[in-house]
Amino acid sequence: MAEMRQETDYVTHHIQKVIAFFESMQNFAAHLKAKDHHVIYYKINDPQNAHNLVKNLEKIIPEHNVICFEYQLPDEYRLDQQLKEFSKNTSIETNVYDTEHFLTKRADLENFFKGKKQIIMEYFYRDMRKKHNIMMQTDKDPEGGKWNFDQSNRKQWKGSPTIPNALSFKKDVSQTLNEINKAKIKTLGTVDAQNFQWPTSRKESLELLTYFCDQLLPHFGDFQDAMHTDEHFLFHSRLSFAMNSKMLHPKEVIDKVINYWHNNSKKIDISQVEGFVRQILGWREFMRGIYWKEMPGYAKKNNLENTNKLPEFFWTAETKMNCMHHAIKQSLDHAYAHHIQRLMITGNYALLTQTHPDEVDQWYLGIYIDAIEWVEITNTRGMSQFADGGIVATKPYVSSGNYINKMSNYCKSCHYNVKKTIEDDACPFNALYWNFLDDKRAHFKNNNRMAMMMNLLNKKSSIEMESIKVKAKKIIEKQNII
Ligand SMILES: Cc1cc2nc3c(=O)[nH]c(=O)nc-3n(C[C@H](O)[C@H](O)[C@H](O)COP(=O)(O)OP(=O)(O)OC[C@H]3O[C@@H](n4cnc5c(N)ncnc54)[C@H](O)[C@@H]3O)c2cc1C
Ligand code: SF4
Repeated sequence: MAEMRQETDYVTHHIQKVIAFFESMQNFAAHLKAKDHHVIYYKINDPQNAHNLVKNLEKIIPEHNVICFEYQLPDEYRLDQQLKEFSKNTSIETNVYDTEHFLTKRADLENFFKGKKQIIMEYFYRDMRKKHNIMMQTDKDPEGGKWNFDQSNRKQWKGSPTIPNALSFKKDVSQTLNEINKAKIKTLGTVDAQNFQWPTSRKESLELLTYFCDQLLPHFGDFQDAMHTDEHFLFHSRLSFAMNSKMLHPKEVIDKVINYWHNNSKKIDISQVEGFVRQILGWREFMRGIYWKEMPGYAKKNNLENTNKLPEFFWTAETKMNCMHHAIKQSLDHAYAHHIQRLMITGNYALLTQTHPDEVDQWYLGIYIDAIEWVEITNTRGMSQFADGGIVATKPYVSSGNYINKMSNYCKSCHYNVKKTIEDDACPFNALYWNFLDDKRAHFKNNNRMAMMMNLLNKKSSIEMESIKVKAKKIIEKQNII
């Protein structure tokens, strides 16, 4: 195992992300050694570390008289290519095995949708429920009589029910931080190194899963889309890092949640559980399938032809837009924002300001504790920026300030007025929204799901549209001072 510059430098990562990976690797190495496995571990400042996977392998193989090289399929295109190339060129025997960390194989999604016009997550999810017999009443019928309880998952959180304190492991990670600083790795965000909050071992990951079932699952679905100035995590599980770093298997997470629900069915409604299972069995596996179906071309997609840059405040949180301030500040402080903050606050803003998807991808790939390309790029370039032209989502996730006001308390204490569109103190999301629809008309003219929005746009008078466009242009040009 090796802490390599090849991995720390391909993007600027959040400091908590680098620490979490190094700590998890060290803990796993210690676990293997305790079971009498022979482990070679290169730390970031070890002089023998060549900081490149191939170079390290080329050194270790003769040094240890290795006669056979075997690996599990990685989950990044970049690493996949590197390992394929290495296996082709090395003189020793090589074998490759499928990864054990997902419920699907790389090509399952592509095979499932072969010959179909559109790739719809819902059909894939239902098939996964049947195939793995998860929450099924019979072979064909879902438990609770419905596949989807999304409608009941859209509540605003107004101070109750009480949100339990987030489980934090409060570990001292100063030594790892010192090593990272000594190596002069460029990072972003902040860390409280005496109170590190993320799980970095299987034991801690299991504790977080149990905590989620006991404390958060009863309200998970209800408040899945809610946002609040005082609450960063609400009822979200924060399990993505534990799963993406492979300390937990997605199936064991699903099984534990379903068992807990069956044992506590009076306290927990099916809608809370189905909402959670859908994210992991549905969305997570779906995104991975799209990644392997579409890479490497996916990383270049810019279907809406956006070209702008992200403003500086994405790295400082210094903006008068309260929603953006909170979503970015907590990302810098915790390497975490929940799905709706990523999609409907920062992602929405980046798309409405017509930012180049490369810029957006780099930011998301760096800042979040759980950001690994297969799940970051499909969510960012696909679901959030609609840069794939509708492979992941059937329409772009954009909204005016109205949606943000409905799902959060951000607007109440904002410098801007969510009800206004063109005035000096108007919420920037409003003019940006109509301007975006107008600028991208050609892209949406054959999209039935956009028809209602485009009809509303067409009802606006040319005078109104003119002032909206002037306002939007001003916002985009002066992003750093809003
Ligand atoms: C622009 C954007 C970028 C994102 N980047 C990432 C990323 O880099 N890594 C990542 O793991 N997730 C990403 N997501 C998906 C989602 O936001 C995170 O998985 C989630 O916020 C992690 O927090 P949690 O564990 O508390 O999730 P919870 O809300 O508790 O959900 C439970 C689990 O469901 C899975 N899940 C939920 N939504 C998705 C989704 N859309 N795609 C895949 N898995 C999902 C995650 O494994 C998550 O841990 C992104 C979403 C958007 C809109
Ligand atoms: S008024 Fe607009 S900018 Fe301010 S918090 Fe609401 S949506 Fe965000």
